[in-house]
Amino acid sequence: MTKKVIIIGGGISGLSAGIYAQQCGFETTILESHNIAGGNCTSWKRKDYLFEGGMHWLGGSKNGSVMNKLWRHVGALDDNVQVFYSEPFLEFNHQGTPIRLYRDVDKMENEWLKTSPVDEKEIKNFCNIIRKMKGLSMPITDLRKVKVTQKVRPHISDLFYAIRAFLTILKYSKISASEYSNRFSHKAIQEFFLSLSGDNQMITMLFMTMGFLANGDGGFPNGGSLPFVERMVNTYNALGGNLLLNTPAETILMENYKAIAVITKNKKYDADAVIIATDTMNIEKLFSFNLHNIKQYLENSWFYDMKKKTEPTSATLVSIGINADLSNYPERPIFKLETPIKLADKNYYYLYVNQYSHDRTYTPKGKTAITIQLSGDTYDFWKMAKENGLYYEEKDKLGKEIINELSKWIPEIENNVEVIDIATPITYEKYCDNWKGSWMTNISNEINFKAYPSTIKGLKGVYFSGHRMMPPGGLPPALMTARKAVQHLCRDTKTLFVSEV
Ligand SMILES: Cc1cc2nc3c(=O)[nH]c(=O)nc-3n(C[C@H](O)[C@H](O)[C@H](O)COP(=O)(O)OP(=O)(O)OC[C@H]3O[C@@H](n4cnc5c(N)ncnc54)[C@H](O)[C@@H]3O)c2cc1C
Repeated sequence: MTKKVIIIGGGISGLSAGIYAQQCGFETTILESHNIAGGNCTSWKRKDYLFEGGMHWLGGSKNGSVMNKLWRHVGALDDNVQVFYSEPFLEFNHQGTPIRLYRDVDKMENEWLKTSPVDEKEIKNFCNIIRKMKGLSMPITDLRKVKVTQKVRPHISDLFYAIRAFLTILKYSKISASEYSNRFSHKAIQEFFLSLSGDNQMITMLFMTMGFLANGDGGFPNGGSLPFVERMVNTYNALGGNLLLNTPAETILMENYKAIAVITKNKKYDADAVIIATDTMNIEKLFSFNLHNIKQYLENSWFYDMKKKTEPTSATLVSIGINADLSNYPERPIFKLETPIKLADKNYYYLYVNQYSHDRTYTPKGKTAITIQLSGDTYDFWKMAKENGLYYEEKDKLGKEIINELSKWIPEIENNVEVIDIATPITYEKYCDNWKGSWMTNISNEINFKAYPSTIKGLKGVYFSGHRMMPPGGLPPALMTARKAVQHLCRDTKTLFVSEV
């Protein structure tokens, strides 16, 4: 008999789980509380402007990489999807001296050497580290003892590159971006690294990111989040999956520690197995029906560790619609502010801007959509503002400050703002039920890429996936953890796992 699987959450992870499980012959239903699928991977329209709110670059965009095979398998990418690789990736300007981060490491090395010949040793060292990181790939493997149509077989060279990169990561693992900046004597280069040190960012994160980019990965699929999700939804529907929107799951019904159904406001969905693809930090409420029974299992599992250790990665995302063509500006400029912007208990000295003047998905010609990410945990501040009735006033104040500061760098902005839209951690909590409104996990204090297990000992028929299950999270972990959860399901039910070709 076909086994029924209920998947809670229709973000990238829930959709991926649904696609893999359907392919393996399970009959699945995805329950999604919002009125669209995609979770954090989303964009929203305000007047003429579409604001990108869930993807800046994609790990696995590179053709031929194992991660790319996974994205193709779930239909998120295919031969018709154009992927853009902006160059330079980032541009910081210090009193007229630009410091650019290029995917082309040789080009970057030459440009930086011209800017600061005295920093030759450190510049060369920095570029060599990135070259060493170049071969690093996503750690994708198959679960032991699961039958798969085709095993993922890492190439022997992958192992060599992984060890080489790992040793480099180890060497620099305790150094923050701001400490690293002191190795350079040129003020512009120093400032550039300082601009990356928000929330005590470790320098190894930059090394790894640069390695991916230098390896030809980390592109931006045409249209960003919405079409990316739509392609996955189409794949899931074509496989016969049942995606139910506006259907929040309230609780999982357990009998003898085995999941037997999921209950929503209006209906009970019988299940042979349940995959929880919501933010794992918030799962207790899904077991509310018999939490007193289940609690001991949660407390004795990795969940306890996750609860203790997890720090949020979140941001206040300021989106601005400007009635001007800004295509003569860099795509990702970083601006240093004369006076820092104060938000909650943080001072923001830099503005990280993404501008989409080159992309007609986001605006009609002649207009530009801009997003600015103020990274950092400001959840408590926004929550308090909401409770005190000051939420919109605070947003309004922040919006005005940002426009004022940004206009100093991009004068076209000042009199041409048509829309301003601010998404806070409260917004991500409201729409995706993300813990503290966070859509990834901060790993600045320890390097831990180990994924949490997909199951909890003692509980049967319950599997876990989602960004929180593999710090730091993001789109690839959302997919990878879903793949792993379905492999667990296949192993438990002696089902063949249909893998990527
Ligand atoms: C501004 C921003 C920029 C980003 N940039 C990048 C980037 O460049 N590259 C990258 O890799 N990642 C990026 N990310 C992170 C990435 O988007 C997320 O990590 C990823 O989408 C998480 O997917 P997920 O499916 O694990 O979780 P989520 O997206 O949180 O999905 C969980 C889903 O479960 C639903 N849900 C919750 N509770 C229930 C319930 N009780 N019943 C039913 N449904 C429920 C939610 O509505 C949601 O749809 C960015 C995120 C943001 C916000």
